[in-house]
Amino acid sequence: MNFIVCIKQVPDTTEVRIDPETNTLVREGVPSIINPFDENAIEAALQLKEKHGGKVMVITMGPPQAEKALREAVAMGADEAILISDRAFAGSDTLATSYTLAQAIRRIGDYDLILCGKQAFDGDTAQVGPGLAEQLGIPQVTYAIEAEIEDKGLRVKRLLEDRFEVVETRLPALITCVKQMNEPRHAGLKGVMKARKAEIPTWTAEDIQADTARCGLDGSPTNVVRIFTPERGREGERLEGECSEVVHTLIQRLREAKVL
Ligand SMILES: Cc1cc2nc3c(=O)[nH]c(=O)nc-3n(C[C@H](O)[C@H](O)[C@H](O)COP(=O)(O)OP(=O)(O)OC[C@H]3O[C@@H](n4cnc5c(N)ncnc54)[C@H](O)[C@@H]3O)c2cc1C
Repeated sequence: MNFIVCIKQVPDTTEVRIDPETNTLVREGVPSIINPFDENAIEAALQLKEKHGGKVMVITMGPPQAEKALREAVAMGADEAILISDRAFAGSDTLATSYTLAQAIRRIGDYDLILCGKQAFDGDTAQVGPGLAEQLGIPQVTYAIEAEIEDKGLRVKRLLEDRFEVVETRLPALITCVKQMNEPRHAGLKGVMKARKAEIPTWTAEDIQADTARCGLDGSPTNVVRIFTPERGREGERLEGECSEVVHTLIQRLREAKVL
C-alpha cells in the first residue's frame, strides 16, 4: 500500500508578520513547525502501514526552508519525502496549492490513500484536502477520527459537531484527519539519524509539468485584500443572559449599526 501525506510548514507563533506588498505571511526566518493536524495525518499513515505494509511518503509545497518539516516527518517514520518548491508557487491560494500538489501526485503515480490534516494553523481554510481530491477526481472523506482499510475499500468514522458518521468508499481516496484521531509519536534517535541522512529531492514547476499560469499569486483567483492583526483590547459590549435574549439584543444592535 502507498500512502501519501501532505504536510504544511506553519509559523510556530501567533506573532505573524505580513508582507505589505503581497499581503502574504513573512515566512523567512520565522520559527516554524509541521502543522499539528498534519502530524496526526502522518501518525495515521504510519499506523496503516504497520497494519497493511507498504510505504509512507510525505510531500510539501513550500519555500526551501520547508525541507526541515519533511525531515521531521522522516524522523517520525516516513519512508520518503519530496519538497515541491519553485518561486512560481509563491503566494498560492488554496486552488493553486491543490493544483500544484495534484501535479506532484500525478508524477508520483501509484498511491492508495492520501492523508491531509483537517486544516492549516495559518490559512485555516480547510480547503486544500477537498480541493486536491477534486483535482485528482478521487473520493474524499473529511474530519476522519478513524480509518480502516479492507481489500480495496476504506471505512472512515467522521467526527461531526454532535455525532459520528461512518462513510465507506473505494481506494484510491483522500481523507483529512482531526487531532482526536491519534497521539502522534515522537521521533526516536534512530529516526532522527535516518532523517539527517535522508535524500529529499526538490521538484520544480517543470518537474511536475505544472502550468505556471495556474500556480502562485498569478494562478490564484483569491485576492487577499488585506491581512492585519486586530488591535488588542478593543472596546466592546459583552451581551449576557438567556440565549434568545442575547440573540434578540444582538439583532437589535446590528440593525442599529445598519449591518442588518
Ligand atoms: C492568514 C491567511 C489567510 C489566508 N486566506 C486564504 C483564503 O481565504 N483563501 C485562500 O484560497 N487562501 C488563503 N490563504 C492562502 C493559503 O494559506 C494557502 O493557499 C495555503 O497554501 C493553503 O491554504 P490553508 O493554509 O488554508 O490550508 P488548509 O486548506 O487549511 O490545509 C489543509 C491541509 O492541506 C494540506 N496542505 C495545505 N497547504 C499545503 C502545502 N503547502 N503543502 C502540502 N500540503 C498542504 C495539509 O495537509 C493541511 O492540513 C491564506 C493564507 C494566510 C496566511
